[in-house]
Amino acid sequence: MAKGKEELNPFKIAQEQLDKAAEIMKLDKQAHAILREPKRTLVVNIPVRMDKGNVETFTGFRVQYNDARGPAKGGIRFHPEETLDTVKALSAWMTWKCSLADIPFGGGKGGIICDTKKMSTGELERLSRAYIRAIAEFVGPDKDVPAPDVYTTPQIMAWMMDEYATIVGHNSFGMITGKPVEVWGSAGRMDSTAMGGMYVLREAAKMMKMDPKKSTIAVQGFGNAGKYAYTLSKKILGAKVVAISDSEGGIYDPDGLDLDKLEAAKAKTGSVQGYQSKNAQKISNEKLLELPVDILIPAAIENQVRQDNADKVKCKLLLELANGPVTPEATDILFKKGIVDLPDFLVNSGGVIGSYFEWVQNTNNYYWDTERFYTELDRIMTRSFNATIATQKDYAAKGRKISPRMAAYVIAVDRVARAMKARGWY
Ligand code: GLU
Repeated sequence: MAKGKEELNPFKIAQEQLDKAAEIMKLDKQAHAILREPKRTLVVNIPVRMDKGNVETFTGFRVQYNDARGPAKGGIRFHPEETLDTVKALSAWMTWKCSLADIPFGGGKGGIICDTKKMSTGELERLSRAYIRAIAEFVGPDKDVPAPDVYTTPQIMAWMMDEYATIVGHNSFGMITGKPVEVWGSAGRMDSTAMGGMYVLREAAKMMKMDPKKSTIAVQGFGNAGKYAYTLSKKILGAKVVAISDSEGGIYDPDGLDLDKLEAAKAKTGSVQGYQSKNAQKISNEKLLELPVDILIPAAIENQVRQDNADKVKCKLLLELANGPVTPEATDILFKKGIVDLPDFLVNSGGVIGSYFEWVQNTNNYYWDTERFYTELDRIMTRSFNATIATQKDYAAKGRKISPRMAAYVIAVDRVARAMKARGWY
């Protein structure tokens, strides 16, 4: 990559990260070549009857990046600016996420170019069902298991599951995860992305000798990840959340934000920026990243901390709860500044680990209580965190300083490569 001009295409970034990890771990060249591209890429054209009676055609994607360790696994995004390359990158990151967590899935991702804010419930339901009809042959509980992501919900998962059941002629609850509990979603899955992030935060704080109760936090994003990150970091860790944002912008109060007031403001005005208190001030999403806080949690979308603003980031600990919020150049800058930047596919893996628990329960037809769900989630998150830090230390002992992201990559890529080798793929 030429200096000065940063690459922001997520798939190029994902390849760049893999190349770097391959060099560090001396990955076999044939394995590297297989892992640089997705195994299967599907693009579908989806006609949907709109409320006005006309038919609109949407473009949808499903990418199965690698399934050497198990069925492809990963969410479906409904986003107006969705691109095939973003979905490809996200499917690669899912592969590393499931591998690092050591759960028996490969990686996949889906997306539809659409603006859910401009669609009625009926239109959304018809689009969701039509998407499943278009990809039905390629998914299934042992092939590829979708889940929610940006702007997709448990309700959307329920419609998709119902459509699939109609096609195959029987119930198949394990074909998709993140479902409502009424149709055998799992207790705990709703906040498992953020809860997993909290377990990592707890372990990282211990390592850094930081007291979460005395720490300030800024969260970028108010979706499933961001909203629960806010609630849980206050409720479980006792931290003070001083800033939060949504797609409209953010709100900052050095005295700490009040959740009830925040939710009321969001409901009333449509944005967290409607929040009012003595010292609260509106800030932009960019400025939120530069606040003088102890912990920064980007929990929205990709490419937020880049070469051009990484130097202004002031936190001690950065938890990537979104997918791809920090670019490779920014990773290097943060590392040099001594900021502990924990990578997305470690920090946000609680979501897919929760999905794995849901799939296991669907497969066994035996359901767990919330306590078991969180205990097992904690065990896996802590294990992944410890493995990442141990690998980083191993390399340091050998004289090579690598970022937590590269340490996590080395573990994840090695497992996938070994599975491919055992299967005779190279
Ligand atoms: N969309 C979430 C992620 O990016 C969850 C994926 C899943 O549960 O399969 O990790």
